[in-house]
Amino acid sequence: MNTPTHLAPLLDGILENDRAALGRAITLVESNAPDDRQNAQQLLTALLPSSGGAHRIGISGVPGVGKSTFIETFGLQLVEGGHRVAVLAVDPSSSVSKGSILGDKTRMEKLGASDDAFIRPSPTGGSLGGVARKTREAILVCEAAGYDVVLVETVGVGQSETAVAEMVDFFLLLKLAGAGDELQGIKRGILELADLIAINKADGNNLPAAELARAEFERALQILRPEDENGWTPKVVTSSGQTGAGLDEIWAAINEHHELLSANGELEKRRKQQLLGWMWSLVDEGLRAAVRAHPKVADTLASLEEAVLEGETTPTSAAEKILSTFKS
Ligand code: GDP
Repeated sequence: MNTPTHLAPLLDGILENDRAALGRAITLVESNAPDDRQNAQQLLTALLPSSGGAHRIGISGVPGVGKSTFIETFGLQLVEGGHRVAVLAVDPSSSVSKGSILGDKTRMEKLGASDDAFIRPSPTGGSLGGVARKTREAILVCEAAGYDVVLVETVGVGQSETAVAEMVDFFLLLKLAGAGDELQGIKRGILELADLIAINKADGNNLPAAELARAEFERALQILRPEDENGWTPKVVTSSGQTGAGLDEIWAAINEHHELLSANGELEKRRKQQLLGWMWSLVDEGLRAAVRAHPKVADTLASLEEAVLEGETTPTSAAEKILSTFKS
């Protein structure tokens, strides 16, 4: 593979785990400028053979469930066990001004200070598709830099969970006992994404309620997903990011799942699907950009959006107009 010479130092830096190079590469991957996009794709093509070696783990839960505390403790334990841990995030709603950006180093200070951890906040701005694409690509860059555990954090609302589930091998859902959202969770289908549910903050006075919630989720899962198509039975455990309780059990489950999926060929299949998902997210993103940039569409976009907002036209007919203008 011929890597353009101007990218060679960056490529070498990543492969030698130079943090500054890793940061620069991810900034390049996150850029929307056409030149940067081209460079990023060349870089990713060169990195692809060195990628794929990590446990890709999604971690989701509503704000306040204890994600950053959990990731910090979990990440530090893994680092102590000799692993190298990257933390990425998908949060399409995050913006610098909001302060609490998922994957923010200031939320995980101790882990952020470790030489064997790399923390990167969610890319900001843009559609979910765009944010997800950037995170997919950042996963590859981190793997090429030798990180063997990649944690992808997301918020437990909306479509971002599905997007993250599609880019990881294992999806961990954090829940709170007695939050009253158990049934809602089942309705939203999120339980169907989870490979493991951890009832978090299971410490101190919360312990009995956490144990009850665990039993309740276990029953719900037995009905919903006795065993999924690749032979895995989703687990329910209690955990605490504060005390570290349950984290060993979670890591053991992740490894058990990994071994099972490696042995039955599911992991390879999933990784291949992830590559296709990545391809389609690029197509989707490119199409959206092309539609918006089309001169005739651009002329009518503002008035069509206004007409939809005013109820003068339906979203369906506005979308049809945009697409037919684009195709004409
Ligand atoms: P996030 O918004 O999901 O990232 O949640 P945070 O990790 O920021 O935690 C939200 C709040 O819950 C903070 O006040 C934490 O101190 C507290 N918290 C987080 N993890 C635990 C835990 O395991 N046990 C208890 N008791 N409190 C926790």
